[in-house]
Amino acid sequence: MKIILVVDMQLDFMEFSGAKLPVPDTREIILNANEYLYALKPIETQSIVFTQDWHTSEWVEHAENGDQFPQHCIENTPGAEILLNRNMIHPAIPQYFLRKNTFDMWAGKPQPMYNQIDMSYVGRDTFFCPNPWSFTVEVFGIASDFCVDAAIKGLLQRGYTVNVIEHLCRGIAKDIRTVVKEKYDGKVNLI
Ligand SMILES: [Zn+2]
Repeated sequence: MKIILVVDMQLDFMEFSGAKLPVPDTREIILNANEYLYALKPIETQSIVFTQDWHTSEWVEHAENGDQFPQHCIENTPGAEILLNRNMIHPAIPQYFLRKNTFDMWAGKPQPMYNQIDMSYVGRDTFFCPNPWSFTVEVFGIASDFCVDAAIKGLLQRGYTVNVIEHLCRGIAKDIRTVVKEKYDGKVNLI
């Protein structure tokens, strides 16, 4: 069984006019990510988790080097919307939404994850803790060198087998191949 982790595929990170923090070369991955998601089969897919950067308008965030990020993904604004057509995903596959207020999905206390099928909520740490050895997590999204990097790190710490979908990742300063080579060489599968 696999869990699909889709990282921050949100308007403000895409190369569209009005986006607050556009990441280069992101237009085509929306189509390709939709295709990937439509092809998922319930028999082999435990669930899909969509992470979503979600900030208040007073919020200020800094990168590790101290640079201040421009304001982005303000809660309940178009910039925070996930730009994927989730209606086409097989209806028997649960979709969860993890709203977080920092680029690292494992940091802080995110809101409980919402499940659109039974309209239930589950905490992040409850969802990701049990039996990591029985799941492979396939991860992709934006940005390779920030949110996706942090997602991979936390999955490995929790004992998951991690597949990174290279053609569905985009980075700000580094592509996903470089991130994996520098930090996770031999620890994740780049597919
Ligand atoms: Zn953010």
